[in-house]
Amino acid sequence: MSGPLELALQATSPGWHRRDFVKACGMAAAAVGLPAKAAAKFVQNAEAGLKPSVIWLANQECTGCTETLLRTSHPSLADLIIDLISLDYNEALLVPAGEQAELSRRQAMERHKGSYILVIEGAIPTADDGIYCKVAGHTSLEIVRECAADAGAIIAIGSCASWGGIPSADPNPTGAKGAPAVLEGKTVVTIPGCPANPYNFLGVALQYATFGTLPELDDLGRPKFAYGRTIHEHCPRRAHFDAGRFARQYGDEGHREGYCLYHLGCKGPATYANCSVQHFNEVTDAWPIGLGHPCFGCTEESLAFRVAMHETVDPNEILPPSQFPPIFADRGPISPMATAVGGAVVGGAIAAGVMASKKVAESTAEAGAGEEG
Ligand code: SF4
Repeated sequence: MSGPLELALQATSPGWHRRDFVKACGMAAAAVGLPAKAAAKFVQNAEAGLKPSVIWLANQECTGCTETLLRTSHPSLADLIIDLISLDYNEALLVPAGEQAELSRRQAMERHKGSYILVIEGAIPTADDGIYCKVAGHTSLEIVRECAADAGAIIAIGSCASWGGIPSADPNPTGAKGAPAVLEGKTVVTIPGCPANPYNFLGVALQYATFGTLPELDDLGRPKFAYGRTIHEHCPRRAHFDAGRFARQYGDEGHREGYCLYHLGCKGPATYANCSVQHFNEVTDAWPIGLGHPCFGCTEESLAFRVAMHETVDPNEILPPSQFPPIFADRGPISPMATAVGGAVVGGAIAAGVMASKKVAESTAEAGAGEEG
């Protein structure tokens, strides 16, 4: 027990068993593709009191990423925060206020210089020298750059911090940008999502804290373990897409039957994220498509808050399924693994794109004929 936030969290946490704690560590390790022995190392470090100091800055945002972090359950992530990381500064959750809050941040920066994890939530306004978001008389731009200078690792959580998110939507009067854009030359791990999945964050933070390394990143700074595949590749509605069964309107028969949401504007085919396999807050189907709403591409700068919800993505770019066999495949001993391996073949990708175009075209023609009739 060390940070002021931890005191506040412990006061509201009912406590939980070591078994739950070990299980949660296992989930966090699995989230980043680390072996079971990594989870054991997390537990070992936590029990030895070796917890990474985390400084969490909030900028232009809705606090949704903090909210989702605190609303996980079985066990609650609040408990995890108490036991696995030392959350020394977070403006939304701190007990101290005013100068004492500033002191908490400065002390954490001094004590853990070069090793603390800086988490950035929210976009950073850059227009007019960044005057549109200030804390304790300093602009977010100044505070982010000051804290980043001596951080051991920098994590941008959520779409706003990763690439600007909704504050950067046209006409973007405050010049909102993501952390990578204002921290040129720094490695910034981005965990986009609106909100980001808390286990993706926790996995990255624990890997850094335990092994001093970061997961493999793509060219946008996103961990490949979470953003290496499109949602469409492992969507549970994929078989309906492949069979040409689509919802056409909210509430129609196809929608009620759980058919594919492509024609309602689902951006899953062009969105790289693991929402379909890492549901939110450990609640089954707690993610947009699981609840009957099309994916709106919140992890993609080129889609979310840029492309209208009802607009469909180009079916020619659709990749083959990685997890579920196509529903029209010849029946036989097809294993999910075989499908996944097949999905990695470039020729298969091209064929999938052609097949996707055909299916979408056929279903569009059928729908048109039906409407005319
Ligand atoms: Fe799932 Fe959307 Fe792809 Fe349909 S288009 S299979 S709902 S990701």
